[in-house]
Amino acid sequence: MGFIELNVLNNAAQNVALGIDLGTTNSLGAMWKDGRPIVLHPEGDSGYVPSAIHFPEKGMPAVGRRARELALVDPAHTLFSIKRFMGRGLAETREDAASVPCPLSENENGVVQFEMRGRKFTPQELSALILMKVHDQACKALGGIEVTKVVITVPAYFDEAQRQATRDAARIAGLDVLRIINEPTAASLAYGLDKRKQGNVAVYDLGGGTFDVSVLRIEEGVFQVLATHGDTHLGGDDFDRALVEVARKELSALLAPNVLEDRAFLQSLRLAAEKCKIELSNAPEAYMHLAMPESGVQWRRNFTRGEAEALWAPLIERTLHSCQRALADAKLKVAQIDEVVLVGGSTRIPAVRERVERFFNRKPHVELNPDEVVALGAAVQAHVLMGGTREVLLMDVTPLSLGLETMGGAVAKIINRNSTIPCQATEGFTTYADNQTGIEFHIVQGERELAKDCRTLGRFKLSGIPPMPAGMPKVAVRFHIDANGMLTVTAKEESTGKSARIEVQPMNGLTDAQVESMLNAAYRHARDDFDARRAADLRTEIGVMVRATERGLGHAAGQLDRETMLDIQDALVAGRAALEGALPDATTLQRVRDQLERATLPLAAALMDSVAKAALSGKKLSEV
Ligand code: ADP
Ligand code: MG
Repeated sequence: MGFIELNVLNNAAQNVALGIDLGTTNSLGAMWKDGRPIVLHPEGDSGYVPSAIHFPEKGMPAVGRRARELALVDPAHTLFSIKRFMGRGLAETREDAASVPCPLSENENGVVQFEMRGRKFTPQELSALILMKVHDQACKALGGIEVTKVVITVPAYFDEAQRQATRDAARIAGLDVLRIINEPTAASLAYGLDKRKQGNVAVYDLGGGTFDVSVLRIEEGVFQVLATHGDTHLGGDDFDRALVEVARKELSALLAPNVLEDRAFLQSLRLAAEKCKIELSNAPEAYMHLAMPESGVQWRRNFTRGEAEALWAPLIERTLHSCQRALADAKLKVAQIDEVVLVGGSTRIPAVRERVERFFNRKPHVELNPDEVVALGAAVQAHVLMGGTREVLLMDVTPLSLGLETMGGAVAKIINRNSTIPCQATEGFTTYADNQTGIEFHIVQGERELAKDCRTLGRFKLSGIPPMPAGMPKVAVRFHIDANGMLTVTAKEESTGKSARIEVQPMNGLTDAQVESMLNAAYRHARDDFDARRAADLRTEIGVMVRATERGLGHAAGQLDRETMLDIQDALVAGRAALEGALPDATTLQRVRDQLERATLPLAAALMDSVAKAALSGKKLSEV
């Protein structure tokens, strides 16, 4: 079999990434090429990989189309719809367990396992097989280039455990996950809806075994899921089943009961029904064929679109009911929806399109293939994450905090993690030393309390500050993240208006896995970090106090008694010692700080006195 040549990618595999739609029924890979996303498939093949796995008696499991074929002859060793089990324990999968042909158990971590041919497989391992198949097909379509970076989509309603299971599946498959994104968001990206300044989008996704509708809000290219609703047991399979039921009733007069209950027979019937359903999407009528030579069955029946639509109408109504609920949850009226996007193979059914259009009173987007649109959107996201250009980058939130290193090596967080972008924040800073004419800014990313434990994003200098006592200059530092995820940090000294700035791309070269491990590290070190941070802040404070005391003594030493002077001298010695060498622990520093504060109380009082006198005698504060 030949494969499409994409020579533009020669040896550039490091700079490209795949988008993968890991579906309940079908999975698909896509990639950015020549200014648009394309589905990757071997020549003469639709490219999608049925999410099915067959376990032969010996040897490697078969994945995809081959597995689906083998399900006809050996349904007992074929698994479908593994996605339903991702991130789930045994107790949560009762409903789906009935349709699994093998025993289920749970491992010591509470993860469901499928017992096949004497071996146990987690949903993560099985999904990894599907991902490997999609990846393999995609790489073949690329002429054998190995691409390992991927963006994978998940339903908007997936919880953290399900998303993590998806990440794990990718890891098992040897793929490097750049990001997990929501399917409705991916579909919207494929249509370029992120280019809208703002708007509300309804994404209606009717797949093989699941239905969901999501209401998204777009604001300056940023997507937010306002509401999602659906039915994880409503999809194209139910449309097939409606036809199967009719056929079974009619066949019951012709076939023995044991044949009617046979798994392989039912599987053939289901496939025949699906084929008929798909034909009905393009033709006003179609035949449902059933040919099972081994049991001498030769049967066919004509369905008109009208008859099928009557059978399907209740199913479609159920999806619209979910749409109503999603809108209510999003607190929006139908008229406030600006775009409707159709996703999922089952939205090719004309009756579905018509009903959805009537419900939203708006023509839905159908320009792209509904069963490809999610993979295409994932490819758009992958392209952008690899530094590719497209007008707007999707980065709904900042996954890590952004801040500045302050005196003593602590971090001042300016933009907190999980802030929706675009966003901005401004903080005031000042100088630590007298007559400091420049400040160096060290921009860091991460959740740790000390700058040395965070990721450095950049450094820049603001110079030309007029010499002033420490603490006098006022420097406003502004962090701004635009819709493209670009961070601009601007520092401006107020009295002179002098400013400096730097631009950095915070997410460059940072994978999901790295973000995750940074978050985990912050969590693990929370206690130590807290102490280290306190120590750093205390040392800074002691430094300020020591210098203020030295300066104060110059003005008011004469007004203090001997004992007070000795206390202050002692405290200063302790303070200076604390500022030298390695950072003492927080408890020691706290004691030194308190000692300084106590010892200098009379000095502060004396200074206040002279300030008051100075004010009365018309002197300016700075002359005191
Ligand atoms: P999923 O997202 O659940 O993995 P897909 O989006 O690939 O699934 O949708 C698969 C479903 O779409 C199947 O039930 C299939 O029968 C149905 N389907 C595919 N093409 C058509 C068509 N032309 N007309 C009607 N249904 C279709
Ligand atoms: Mg899907």
